[in-house]
Amino acid sequence: MRYVLLILTGLLLSPVTTLANDEPQKPAQPELKIIVDTSEVPELKEWGEKSAELIRQWHPKIAEMLPQEGFTPPQEVRVVYKKDMDGVAHTIRNQIVISGNWVKQHPEDTGMVIHELVHVIQAYPRGGPFWLVEGIADYIRFYKYEPQTRLRGINPERQSYRDGYRTSAQFVAWLEKTHPGIVQKINEAIRKHEYQNVLIRETTGKNVEQLWDEFVKSEDSKGRR
Ligand SMILES: [Zn+2]
Repeated sequence: MRYVLLILTGLLLSPVTTLANDEPQKPAQPELKIIVDTSEVPELKEWGEKSAELIRQWHPKIAEMLPQEGFTPPQEVRVVYKKDMDGVAHTIRNQIVISGNWVKQHPEDTGMVIHELVHVIQAYPRGGPFWLVEGIADYIRFYKYEPQTRLRGINPERQSYRDGYRTSAQFVAWLEKTHPGIVQKINEAIRKHEYQNVLIRETTGKNVEQLWDEFVKSEDSKGRR
């Protein structure tokens, strides 16, 4: 895969680093372009460069986990580090916006970059099912990228599959384990703006609530140490 990395560190967009890596045996592969902007938080220049490398490595892997005929995920990813921003990060289309303060306080948190990169590759139209959009992003993060990270067990009194993030991720992981291929199926449907819970019933023969009940009774809901 050809690969271009631009690191924007100054207000005049200088210096700009461009790295190109040609693999002539795969000329048809689209070029992946990663633009990192740390101009607001120059002390995160190095962290920003590491995040670009992470994206370079994981963009093709995540694209393979969420495939679809005729679909090419965005081949340009922008990452902007913000000086004054609450929260952690968010993604709008192919632009990931990350809080500089969060990174300074949690420099080990590279997993959130993966979570946001999943959103870029999902490229879902608006109005997708929140719990699956966030659940799949955290599923890829916690089960593919950082399978060693501890996860708290599910408390069914207080948690639901609709919660999104880690809760839904654990349910999604169990769904995929018990019904291999279901994540790809769900992903395709959300991309086509056609997803409804009935898809899960058609695929598994059970509705989501029944499956959730089975999941919370299973060992897989007990967390990971
Ligand atoms: Zn998210």
